[in-house]
Amino acid sequence: MSGYQEIGTVPGGSPAITAAVFRAVRTGNAFEETVERLLEGVKLGVYAPGDRLPPERELTRRLGISRITLREALRELAAAGYVETKRGRFGGTFILRQPEPMVHDELTRTARDMGAQLDDALTFRRVVETGAAEMAARASLTMQQRESLAECLAAMYACGPSGYRPADTRLHLAIADAAGSPMLTASVVESRVQLVDLLNAIPMLQRNLEHANVQHAAIVRAILAGDPDRARRAMEEHVAGTAALLRGFLGDTVLAPGGRPPGIPPITGGLPAPPYPLAPEGGS
Ligand SMILES: [Zn+2]
Repeated sequence: MSGYQEIGTVPGGSPAITAAVFRAVRTGNAFEETVERLLEGVKLGVYAPGDRLPPERELTRRLGISRITLREALRELAAAGYVETKRGRFGGTFILRQPEPMVHDELTRTARDMGAQLDDALTFRRVVETGAAEMAARASLTMQQRESLAECLAAMYACGPSGYRPADTRLHLAIADAAGSPMLTASVVESRVQLVDLLNAIPMLQRNLEHANVQHAAIVRAILAGDPDRARRAMEEHVAGTAALLRGFLGDTVLAPGGRPPGIPPITGGLPAPPYPLAPEGGS
């Protein structure tokens, strides 16, 4: 493993996150979909440069593909410079680099092509992420889950703008995992896969990062304190802020008529939106 930095892989070594990222290939295009799945894991930041992918046998089982298809997909990714396969006792397939984020024009085109699907993806994300935060706060967490949340949060403070998106995904997946529902974890992964190219392309400004980290800390604190209402509200504010940032970056032209998913406030002054009223006290 010399030359590779050891970076923690899946938060807390969660089987639910691994299962969600490497969910079975379903279409007739096994090769293309395998390449896509593996790249998604890297783009999301579940696997960072230097990380080792799960072993071949595990990947073929999870993805439901043959060894030949997996090897072809890995060869393709190696040729593109994303992974490197090393033989021997400490061998395996290692991540070399992240795909380049989209440039602005490409991003605008992708967002326009998505059309109403973009609003749908933002709504879906809002529902599953707030649900995950609430359920994580209701769950009795293991020491490992508590530590994983604290570590993912600390990594966000340490990462700097270039590492923000992958670190963000890892924290959100750790929260989903803490909720204790593999289906919910799969939904959070799915919602992030829908938006990963768009989110990765947003340039991160220091002040956005600081603001997001205040929100992340509030979410994690509420979960660790076992306060579901506060956890849900903090997550709702946070994902609304990200949606607003995305809209601000894309501009109004890309968005479907009506502008934004219901209930999500507009961006103000280039910063994520402030807290806004939710259900009346005592409601949920
Ligand atoms: Zn976040």
